[in-house]
Amino acid sequence: MHDPFPFSAPPRWQHTLGKTVPCEGIGLHTGIEVRLSLGPAPADAGLVFMRKDGPHRSASIALHPRAVCQTRRGTSIGNVDGVTLATTEHLLAALAACGIDNAVIEVSGPEIPAMDGSALAFATLIKEAVPVSQNIPRRYIEVLKAITCLDGNRQVSLKPSTIPKISARIDYPDTLIGEQSYHFDVTATGFIKDIAPARTFALAHEIKGLKEAGLALGGSLDNCILVDGMTIQNPDNLRFYDEFVRHKILDILGDLALAGAPVLGHFISDCAGHSLNNTLIRTLMDDPDAWRWKTFTESPDKTTL
Ligand SMILES: [Zn+2]
Repeated sequence: MHDPFPFSAPPRWQHTLGKTVPCEGIGLHTGIEVRLSLGPAPADAGLVFMRKDGPHRSASIALHPRAVCQTRRGTSIGNVDGVTLATTEHLLAALAACGIDNAVIEVSGPEIPAMDGSALAFATLIKEAVPVSQNIPRRYIEVLKAITCLDGNRQVSLKPSTIPKISARIDYPDTLIGEQSYHFDVTATGFIKDIAPARTFALAHEIKGLKEAGLALGGSLDNCILVDGMTIQNPDNLRFYDEFVRHKILDILGDLALAGAPVLGHFISDCAGHSLNNTLIRTLMDDPDAWRWKTFTESPDKTTL
């Protein structure tokens, strides 16, 4: 059964890709050229990464909040054998927002390619793969009570909601970015139009330190907005005046996908990053009173999904 795509509402049924689609590019942090393919997987398989290079050949990494092993300027995940994969969040955001529950993601290196710094290439790839319904109910993680995690003046919360939604605020004083807020009700159509094109960004004064830490080695004006005070260094303009906070929503979508299933709740971020996002998801999943599995097949006429 083929559903029309893009979806205009969160799907009730599990979906996978209709065919295998490839792409390639360099990793933002490693600078290494990587080939990637997205392919179909059976119902209930989840999103599974497979390293296809060298000694890691066919090592798989399944999504789980505790698979996260590094959260500095991106989310890296790993398996029990220590095989890791960096910068998963933009691809995971695209898969999650486009309603893809089950897929095999084969990667020829240690990092997901940066493409243009946004999720647009991945959303296009998913569209090309023609998502298909698998006629098995999609299982949502329904948030039952509000949970908040703090780190200094950074804060994230998850609250009950009948639809998946995300609100974010960022504040970079004395820069072009300034203070920005954005609210997003998660649908594939909204994602492709309003969130997927938003690129990652960095502040010019951070670059030296990042490179010394072995990060951003593949970073360039082709895959990152470089903000220098009140100007941007990129020759092309911003894609949205609030592109920065839209990218924050993109990162949250990707980090939320590490719950291993779509989260039915309202995620609220105040100046938080990958680390706090992961702490919140772990806190949710570790509290049996905070969530339950939910499907939308028992009473289809009484739901808005
Ligand atoms: Zn990002």
